[in-house]
Order: sequence, then C-alpha cells, then structure tokens
Amino acid sequence: DPRHTVRVHLVRLQRRFLVVLADDLGEEQRVNAMRRDFIANVSHELKTPIAAIGLLSEAVHEAAAEPGTVRTFAKSLMKESKRLSELSRDIIQLSEAQSTLRPEDREPVSVRDLVRTEVEAHRTFAAQHGVEMVVTDAQDAERSSYVLGRPAALGVAVANLLSNAITHSPPGGRVGVGLEFEQRSVVVTITDQGEGIAPEHLPRIFERFYRVDDSRSRDGGGTGLGLSIARHTMRAHGGDIDVWSQPGVGSSFSLTFPLAEEAPAGAAKKKKKK
Ligand code: ADP
Repeated sequence: DPRHTVRVHLVRLQRRFLVVLADDLGEEQRVNAMRRDFIANVSHELKTPIAAIGLLSEAVHEAAAEPGTVRTFAKSLMKESKRLSELSRDIIQLSEAQSTLRPEDREPVSVRDLVRTEVEAHRTFAAQHGVEMVVTDAQDAERSSYVLGRPAALGVAVANLLSNAITHSPPGGRVGVGLEFEQRSVVVTITDQGEGIAPEHLPRIFERFYRVDDSRSRDGGGTGLGLSIARHTMRAHGGDIDVWSQPGVGSSFSLTFPLAEEAPAGAAKKKKKK
C-alpha cells in the first residue's frame, strides 16, 4: 500500500526533524524561528506529492478494470513518489551539511578527482540537454588539490552546481568547469550560458526552498535545496560558495576549498603522513 510507505517515510522524516530541533535547545530564538520556518516550508513541500500519491492510488484502485487509465495514473504516481524521495534525500543532505564537521569526519579528498568523477557522472544528463561540458585544469597540474573533508558531501556540492548549470543551459550551450589554485585554496568554477539570475534574486538563491521561477521549477524541477546544501557544506569545510550572474548572459558559481597543509603520501585513503 503506497500510503503505508508514505506514512513510514513521514515518520522517519519527523524523527530527523526532532533530532535537528533538539540540537537547538538553548540557542537563540532567531534560530528557533528559522527552524520553525523551515519545518513549515518542509510540510508545505511535502503536502503536494503526498496528497497526489494518496488520490492517485485511490484512483488506481478504482480504475483497476481500465488498463489505459491505470497506466496514466501509475505514471503520475511514479513522478510524485520520485519527487518525494528527492525531497527526503535533500532534507537529509541538508541536515548533514548543517551539522558541524568533526575531525574524524575528515579524510583527504582530491578536488581534481572529485570534479572529474562528477563531470563524468553528469555526461548523460548533459547530452540529454544538448549541453557540452568543457573542463579546464591546465594551471598547476602538478599541484596537489587535496582538501580534508567528507568526500560524499563535497561531491554533492559539485554535483548540485553541475546539474543546475546543465538544467539552465540552452540546447547547444556550453558548461565550463575550471580548476584554479590560489595560495591556500583551490577554486572550482562552473559557468553556464543560461538565462542568468536577476540581481534582486541573487542574494536569495541560497535560501532553503527559494526558487526564482516557482511554478516552472516546481513542476519537474529540483527541490529548491541544492544551493543551500552546497553552501552549508562548503562553509562547514572552511570554504565558501560565490556566484556571479547576468541575465541573458549566464551564471558562474565558484566553490572555494581550503587546501590540506600537506598532501597525503601514497594511497588516497591514507591519513596525513608525519
Ligand atoms: P533547485 O532545486 O530549484 O535547482 P537550487 O537551490 O539548486 O534549487 O537553486 C535555487 C534557484 O536558483 C533555482 O530554482 C533557480 O531559480 C536558481 N538557479 C540556480 N542555479 C542556476 C543557474 N545555473 N542559472 C540560473 N538560475 C539558477
């Protein structure tokens, strides 16, 4: 019964929120208000797919004799449940990104490898959109790009920017992925030739659930959490995320990772050698 699955799902999410909330006891009221806002937003975002799944499964139940109708409803059911699972995945990623990074969570991560892996993982998605991805990593090819952090979370930050860039690109557009070294950091910049973001929206795009074009994004678009997850992750790692954008020209997002003091010798998994 899909409604049972939804209920189980909801209970898990609620537990997750309680943990997030419990963290807050004793903190300032402003923070509490933000959490309340967040939960109100989450409930709002969850309601639509959950209601749809409920109605659709009833409709499937009643239309069981007509294969054509069942098929149509089943397709909508698949879409709504996909949306729900993306939402719960993003909420979990956000709550992880917001938690403080303990020293034992950190392992050496090669930003260069991370970027390559994520670009490869997005090739099919880019091709579906008729978008070409171009990676530039000419500068300082010998320099170590190791940072200390959580590889999965850092991968998600890069992945979210890549998928946004591809999604917002026009067919035939190009997404540039560049790796540049600064004195103590490595900067990954992802540039697209999409519609760009108007200056009045720019400061708000990192907010949870903020979408520039609500109606368009909500229908088949993302959850509105991707940039928020990326920013929390980068800041938890002592880095940051920056954006430059011009409507009609495109957007450019940069991730700054503080480099590890010393590159790990030998295997990538080894901790820092003395
Ligand atoms: P979403 O799941 O909607 O993509 P994000 O947090 O990743 O959520 O992004 C928030 C909003 O910022 C998007 O809805 C979109 O309006 C805008 N945005 C993000 N990346 C780009 C981009 N590369 N080009 C244009 N607009 C973008």
